[in-house]
Amino acid sequence: MLRFLLICLLALPAAGQIRTLIIDGQSNHQAWPEQTPLLKEYLDEMGLFEVEVLTTPPAGGDMGQFDPDFSKYDLVVSNYNGEPWSPETNQAFEKFVRSGGGFVSVHAADNAFPEWKAYNQMIGIGGWGGRTEKHGPYLRLKDGEWVHDPSPGKGGHHGKRVPYAVDVREPSHPIMSEMPERWMHAADELYDSLRGPAENVTVLASGYSDPAVGGTGREEPLIMTIPYGEGRVFHTALGHSVESISCVGFITTFQRGAEWAATGEVTQYMPSEFPTATEVLTR
Ligand code: ZN
Repeated sequence: MLRFLLICLLALPAAGQIRTLIIDGQSNHQAWPEQTPLLKEYLDEMGLFEVEVLTTPPAGGDMGQFDPDFSKYDLVVSNYNGEPWSPETNQAFEKFVRSGGGFVSVHAADNAFPEWKAYNQMIGIGGWGGRTEKHGPYLRLKDGEWVHDPSPGKGGHHGKRVPYAVDVREPSHPIMSEMPERWMHAADELYDSLRGPAENVTVLASGYSDPAVGGTGREEPLIMTIPYGEGRVFHTALGHSVESISCVGFITTFQRGAEWAATGEVTQYMPSEFPTATEVLTR
């Protein structure tokens, strides 16, 4: 009996290990094969995560072969923007998050699956893929509150890729705790005009979309959390390129957001060096 118990205990993940699955395999972003190992490294180095990567068949392949057992994981991270998964995989993923699984959507993952209702509820807002007012409202900052704007128009756009300031909107949230109110993000796309169900979205940080570089002249939601059933979603619109995800601000919010999505807590300290209101800091 004792031996049996011992074997059972050994089979469990080490205390504090967050079993994590990163999904990639298709994207309009050519750098995805270089980005996934970096995302994995950022999680591995925290000692909190046990990370596996699963790559879908390429575009045009048999997506029926993509059939992960989500129940083996505490957290799913998506670096995927491609063809629809099978209805069975969609249902399994919905069940995973609804029953308490964590989900992290990175950059173009919020372009994926415009017609998958539950997925759009998870990410709150998304862009491209033919998204319009039919897919839900924009989120606009008005008198300090994020409000729905149902105006007709396309979902998803960005100006030129430049460094920009990220403004923390929820400083008391565990993911943003002790973070400077404003920090410079390395050159990246600043997604604007995202739209979707936008239900129960907490905008943790936003950025000013500067008309001088083709932006909207509005504050745009960039880092957010969304509840879905018992599950938690961390959605970062940052991360177009290898340079963008080498920003210490991206890395820190990604690491903390991943832990929070999986556990509802953040145990990570702020790194000793962090971008300032005027200076970008990359690895
Ligand atoms: Zn991009």
